[in-house]
Amino acid sequence: MRQHEAAAGHLQFGLHLVALRGVRFGYGGGWALGPVTAELPVGVTGLIGPNGSGKTTLMRILAGVMRPRGGELRFDGRALDSWSELNRYRRVVGYLPQDPRWAKGWLARDYVEYVASAYGVPRAERAAAGAAALDVTGATPYSGRKLGSLSGGQEQRVHLATAIVHSPRVLILDEPTVGLDPSERVRIRAFLRSQGQSRIVLVSTHLMDDVALGADRVLVMNEGALKWAGTVAEMAALGREAEGVSAAEDAYLKLVEE
Ligand code: ADP
Repeated sequence: MRQHEAAAGHLQFGLHLVALRGVRFGYGGGWALGPVTAELPVGVTGLIGPNGSGKTTLMRILAGVMRPRGGELRFDGRALDSWSELNRYRRVVGYLPQDPRWAKGWLARDYVEYVASAYGVPRAERAAAGAAALDVTGATPYSGRKLGSLSGGQEQRVHLATAIVHSPRVLILDEPTVGLDPSERVRIRAFLRSQGQSRIVLVSTHLMDDVALGADRVLVMNEGALKWAGTVAEMAALGREAEGVSAAEDAYLKLVEE
């Protein structure tokens, strides 16, 4: 109970955040990322950048599935510098990687409950937690269907349910709108906005509309570096609307091409 009150206090006073301090990562041949210094507060932060700019690498580190090779990841003011700290942190993070194909043969409800167990949700609570998460993302009608039998948008609703089934404080979604039609994309933006009311949400995308219409803040990556961070309005103010290009797109092009 006391822990819960402390968490609410953090939210209230804006201390509840994830921070990166000089974080670097490499896969073997030089640095693929960093050093990156950034803070993620409660709300929706959009992560945008060209292919290969380090978005997925950054998200894996923020999800706690890979450890930085330099610098530190911090949560609620503490450095996560041991595996036990990182393991504890992972339980409060919902991470949806790109295209988790391995789940195609699972029934939606079994899959969501399985992910709940991986996140440490007690057995007695899994069915209710799974049903509630499927309800939030509008996937209840598919709970008895195999993921492989669903449309892209329907399947993505199930995947989004897995990311929130344990009521995480941090939600990290790697390109959740890829390949979806406009109505599903609009639906996902509404989902992100509602999640961002109380959670730290980081969402990567290729689409400026997803950022301009769905996020509060933006991180722009290029060649493994964080090029720019600010609000959506600040980003739009950097660019100029022209035929076929929105102000935010113009700003993005300037940032990654300069
Ligand atoms: P993005 O998500 O923006 O496309 P990534 O984080 O996937 O960027 O990639 C950043 C850099 O790291 C790229 O140069 C990419 O080739 C490299 N990289 C990503 N994943 C691996 C991996 N598993 N092994 C080796 N290099 C990788």
